[in-house]
Amino acid sequence: MNQLSPKNLLSAVVGAVILLEILSLSLTSSHYPWGVLSHPSLGLRIIGWVLICQSGFALMALGVMALIPDKPCPICCRDLKRFIPVYGIPVFCPRCMSMFHQNCFKSKPRCPVCFPQDEGESTNPLDFTRDWT
Ligand SMILES: [Zn+2]
Ligand SMILES: [Zn+2]
Repeated sequence: MNQLSPKNLLSAVVGAVILLEILSLSLTSSHYPWGVLSHPSLGLRIIGWVLICQSGFALMALGVMALIPDKPCPICCRDLKRFIPVYGIPVFCPRCMSMFHQNCFKSKPRCPVCFPQDEGESTNPLDFTRDWT
């Protein structure tokens, strides 16, 4: 199940909006969802808020997805967006602005794009001498 695909997110937003519309039309005879949100019945107000929050979160996720480039993660070489459920949300190196999966980035001592030769043996960032030996 790929919950993070833009198609699913979009249908979550549309579904919530349609439900709100139906609820407000049938219960408050108003086109506006705020009719449900200020309805005297607490249950209906909760449903209304849940639907609003659902579409809000889905819209936010859509926005985040739009910001993530269609590129593979340099560490695991898998698609940044499609492997979020497996390797974690994308994070970026503040130095080179490359994007990695959170779990991939955490598994490396340093950014592999900024330090391509770093194998992880040296933990001292000030050790410049090992390149001279
Ligand atoms: Zn990765
Ligand atoms: Zn970097």
